[in-house]
Amino acid sequence: MIETAEIKINRVGQSSISELDVENIPFARIYSDHMFIADYKDGEWQDLRIEPYQPLSLSPATSAIHYGISIFEGMKAYKNQEGEVLLFRPNDNASRLNISAERMCIPEVPESLFMDALTELIRLDSQWVPNKQGTALYIRPCVFATDEYIGIKPSENFKFMIITSPVGAYYSKPVNVKIETHFSRAFEGGTGYAKAAGNYAASLYPAKLAQDEGYDQLIWTDGKTHQYIEESGTMNVMFIIDDKLITAPASGTILKGITRDSVLTIARDWGMEVEERPVSVKEIVEAARSGAIQEAFGVGTAATIAQIAAIGHEDEHFQLNDVASRKFSNKVLSELDNIKTGQIEDRFGWTYKV
Ligand SMILES: *Cc1c(COP(=O)(O)O)cnc(C)c1O
Repeated sequence: MIETAEIKINRVGQSSISELDVENIPFARIYSDHMFIADYKDGEWQDLRIEPYQPLSLSPATSAIHYGISIFEGMKAYKNQEGEVLLFRPNDNASRLNISAERMCIPEVPESLFMDALTELIRLDSQWVPNKQGTALYIRPCVFATDEYIGIKPSENFKFMIITSPVGAYYSKPVNVKIETHFSRAFEGGTGYAKAAGNYAASLYPAKLAQDEGYDQLIWTDGKTHQYIEESGTMNVMFIIDDKLITAPASGTILKGITRDSVLTIARDWGMEVEERPVSVKEIVEAARSGAIQEAFGVGTAATIAQIAAIGHEDEHFQLNDVASRKFSNKVLSELDNIKTGQIEDRFGWTYKV
């Protein structure tokens, strides 16, 4: 099909890179000079192109707008000390995009198309990959339905786009999370495992209620019984209790994070005991109450590791131990940063030079 299809490049007249203050980058508000776009029509991806970043023109009847037939990915590019650009496990984003695609009746984006589009775009905008410690270029691929049709049916036309945005040194403040036992994010047979637009739309209201109570984020529980911990916002969650690293299994209701897999892989490599198993709310609440939680943190591309400072459950609020004393999560954060920026040997073959 499109194995060797050519990507047409239409460069910006004038780069806006000079407007970027690398010392002070606002999160996801500034976009790089170029974007990648391809159109799916007549059963294939065509018209592969890189254009100046600019608004799209769409029919008001575009099916993605009405029915949320839309999926996305999230990843980052980093610079190493030689100024070369490194991606972290991009093939895993490509395959996860297609897992999401199948669930939403969106056509597959062949991995070769995904990787070609990504590398061409990042090469062209490589000056947008900041090189200061902790900074990166956030990459947002997405695919959405563009049928001009307000009947509900699988679409026949789609756009695959990639936009990128430089992000600043992301010191994530330790977060206060509330275990949500009323609203649900996902349920067996649903779309929890897909990075599907609607999942995030549906999470906003429960998260807002928790924010009104003073929490930063929710920890979702299973939709059926609310007795098992699932994940948080756009992060998987992990606990260390009795020196064991514990996290919920990546079942159909949990987004299978690439950071999650990376942290588990490093933990096993370091000889740590790892348990991927159902984690009950009761177990976590009891461990929080008795002080048995040694570490608690979220894992995802945005922050890599987001420390959990406190956990709320119903009327109780548990302050956890001091973040600075958490050996594993602090160490795995710097290990991952060092791998992603090429400062230590990439012993798992995770980095990809653009
Ligand atoms: C993207 C995402 C994650 C984290 O995945 P990474 O590949 O580690 O960035 C976790 N949970 C949800 C719901 C997500 O959307």
